[in-house]
Amino acid sequence: MNSAPHSTRVALVTGASRGIGRAAALALAAAGCHVVALARTQGGLEELDDEIRALRPDVETPATLAPCDLRDFPAIDRLGEALHKRWGRLDILVGNAGALGPLSPLHHVDPKQWEEVMAVNVTANWRLIRALDPLLRQSQAGRAVFVTSGAASRTELLAYWGPYAVSKAALDALVRTYAAETVNTSAIRVMLVNPGPLRTRMRASAMPGEDPTTLRAPEELAPKIVALCAPAWSETGKLYDFPHDRVMSFSAPD
Ligand code: NAP
Repeated sequence: MNSAPHSTRVALVTGASRGIGRAAALALAAAGCHVVALARTQGGLEELDDEIRALRPDVETPATLAPCDLRDFPAIDRLGEALHKRWGRLDILVGNAGALGPLSPLHHVDPKQWEEVMAVNVTANWRLIRALDPLLRQSQAGRAVFVTSGAASRTELLAYWGPYAVSKAALDALVRTYAAETVNTSAIRVMLVNPGPLRTRMRASAMPGEDPTTLRAPEELAPKIVALCAPAWSETGKLYDFPHDRVMSFSAPD
């Protein structure tokens, strides 16, 4: 059985085949983590693996690929069992994978599309927490970071973003709940990240008329995600807002 010493942090990154997840996986690997890279697209994961190997020629197996559709919830449980068998712990969970869903009025949304967005953006992240919490608790400094969106709390331009906005608002509540359940009983620290508009495939499909060269690249956000995953990171249940480089607290209505 392979096992990584505690000095090598084991990091699961969902949605690692492209975009923000890929950039985060590379940055975590460059920081010395063993990355477990999850997505559906085998080719994208293999390219990432090649890049991580080029970054870490000193390490025989610097990454593990986990081709998986996050809507397959029993597969998430099996992943938890595999991580348990191989390392007995998980140090970092980056819940980044997301689905945009249809940008259309609520009454036009197809129920299947609604279910898919909720499955990927909300339920899969809950299933990851459910399957991986025991492993994060085995880490000396478990860190969980989930990628949300400004759409969750937007006060204008909300029309036609229904499924996505609803799912990200639910994700925010899920993650804050997990933070509250771990803060006094474990070393786990849990954060949300708002990336703002970044140059990815999802952004291009949401904003087809936009010039992508005007947007920041996921590689600029990646070092911030690495910082949120570090043992030195101490805040929990808060939102890191990348466009303004600030940590925000949630507040109840007055
Ligand atoms: P992206 O380039 O489209 O990447 C999305 C990732 O999620 C891909 O790796 C995709 O992999 C994975 N994924 C989607 N459905 C999946 C499924 N069913 N099972 C497993 N993996 C799945 O988009 P991105 O912009 O990097 O998005 C990453 C996160 O940032 C998302 O949560 C998104 O909501 C959030 N976000 C992005 C922006 C932005 O401007 N880019 C702004 C705010 C928030 P496969 O297709 O290979 O499975």
